[in-house]
Amino acid sequence: NRNAIQDMIRTAVASAPPGESVGILFLDLDNFKKVNDHYGHVFGDRLIQDVSAAVRDCLEKGDVLARLGGDEFIVLSQGATAASLETVAQRILERLRTPFSLGLVEVYTGCSIGIALFPEHGDSLESLIRAADTAMYVAKDGGKRTYRVFSPEMNRRVAEFMWLDTNLRRGLDEGQLTLHYQPKLSLATGTVYGVEALVRWNSPERGQIMPSEFIRYAEESGLIGPLGRWVMQTAAAQAAQWSARGMPLRVAINVSARQLVDTAVVRHFSEALQCANLDPCLIDLELTESCLIEDEAAAIDLITQFRKLGAQVHLDDFGTGYSSLSQLGRIPLDMIKLDRSFVRSINADRKAQALVRSMVAVAQALQLQVVAEGIETEAEELFMKGLGVEYVQGFLYGQPMAAAEFERWMLDRQKVRLIA
Ligand code: C2E
Ligand code: MG
Ligand code: MG
Repeated sequence: NRNAIQDMIRTAVASAPPGESVGILFLDLDNFKKVNDHYGHVFGDRLIQDVSAAVRDCLEKGDVLARLGGDEFIVLSQGATAASLETVAQRILERLRTPFSLGLVEVYTGCSIGIALFPEHGDSLESLIRAADTAMYVAKDGGKRTYRVFSPEMNRRVAEFMWLDTNLRRGLDEGQLTLHYQPKLSLATGTVYGVEALVRWNSPERGQIMPSEFIRYAEESGLIGPLGRWVMQTAAAQAAQWSARGMPLRVAINVSARQLVDTAVVRHFSEALQCANLDPCLIDLELTESCLIEDEAAAIDLITQFRKLGAQVHLDDFGTGYSSLSQLGRIPLDMIKLDRSFVRSINADRKAQALVRSMVAVAQALQLQVVAEGIETEAEELFMKGLGVEYVQGFLYGQPMAAAEFERWMLDRQKVRLIA
C-alpha cells in the first residue's frame, strides 16, 4: 500500500550506493472511471486486481509493486537505469493491450506511465514521486497508452496547465472570450453562405490566446462543457441579430467529442436557440472524427437529434482521424470539411492530388457536400473547382474576424448593408 511503498522508497534513496539509481514507475489506468461507471464498483475492483497481477508479471526480480489508491500504481526498482525502466514500461503497455475478461465481458484498459530516477530527477521521496507523476501526466497528454521519462522541461507544461486551471474558468466567467467569424463561400457563385465561429480568449495578462492553446486543456478539465455552452449561446445570439438585420447567415460552431459525452448537450443547444429566438435554426455543428469513434450508436443518436432541431452536421478535419469509410456511410452527416493539411499538400505532388480527388469522390458518392478549408492561393481554389467542391473557406477569402469587422467585410465584398 501507499505507506509501505513510501517507506521502501525512502529507504532505497537513503541507502543507494554512490552511482546507483533508484527508479520509479508511476502508472495510471486510462479508462478506469469509465469501467467503474459503466459496469459498477465490483467490476472495477476485479479489474484492479487483474491489472495488478498482470503488471506484476511484467516486473524484474526484486521490483516492488504498490497500489497508491484508485487506479494509481507505483513500481519501485532499485539499481535501475532509464533503459531498464523503459523496457519494463513497454512490457506493461504491451500486456495491457490484450483485454481482461471479467465474467462474460471483455474489458480493454490501458495505462499511462511516468518514469523518474533518483538522483537525476529527484533526491527525496516527494520530489521523485512528483517527477514520476508529472511524467505520467505528460504521457496521458501525449495520447495515453504510452510512457514518458521525466525531464525538467515537463515542469513548464505542468505550470502552464495550472495557469490555465485558474485563469480560463475566470476568463469564461468574466467575459474574456469572444467569437471570431470566418466566411464560407460557395465556389460557384462566390457568395458567402455562412461563417465558422472560432473562439478567442482575450487574457488581461497575455493578450489574445488562440484556441489551440486552451481547448485541449478545457477538454481535459471538463471546462469544455460550460465553454461550449457559451459558444452555442453566443453564436445563436449573433445569428439571430444578423438575421434580424437582414443577413441570415448560417453560423457553424465547433463541438468537441468531450461535449457529446454529456447527453444534455442537445438540450443546451435547443435552449440556446430558444433563448436567442432563432427560428429557423441557423446554427450548424462541426464535429471531428473522434466524436464518432468511441460510441457510434450514441453519436448517431445525438446527430439525429441535432438535425431534428434544424442544425446541419459537418465532419471537421476530414481525413485526419480514424473513422472508417463504412462508418462514414452510416453517420447522418450533411457535409465534410476537407482538412487544411490536404489542401496544403496538393501543391506538393501528384499523389497528394490523387488522394484529395479520391476523398472528394467518396464524399460525393455518399451524397455529402464538401467544403475545403484553409484555401490560401488561387491555384488551390482552381484545383477544388476542378473537383466539383461546393464550398471554400480560407485566408484567400477572409480571416476569422470579430463580428463588427466581419460586417464591414461583408459590406465591402458583398455589398450587404445591415440594418442598424
Ligand atoms: P478548425 O475547426 O479546423 O478551424 C479551422 C482553423 O484553421 C482555424 O484556426 C482557422 O483560423 C484556421 N484557418 C482558416 N483558414 C485558414 C487558412 O487559409 N490558412 C491557415 N493557415 N489557417 C486557416 P483557429 O481559429 O486557431 O482554431 C483552431 C481549432 O480550434 C479549430 O480548428 C477547432 O478545432 C478549435 N476550436 C476553435 N473554436 C472552438 C470552439 O468554440 N470550440 C471547440 N470545441 N473547438 C474550437
Ligand atoms: Mg471547425
Ligand atoms: Mg477543420
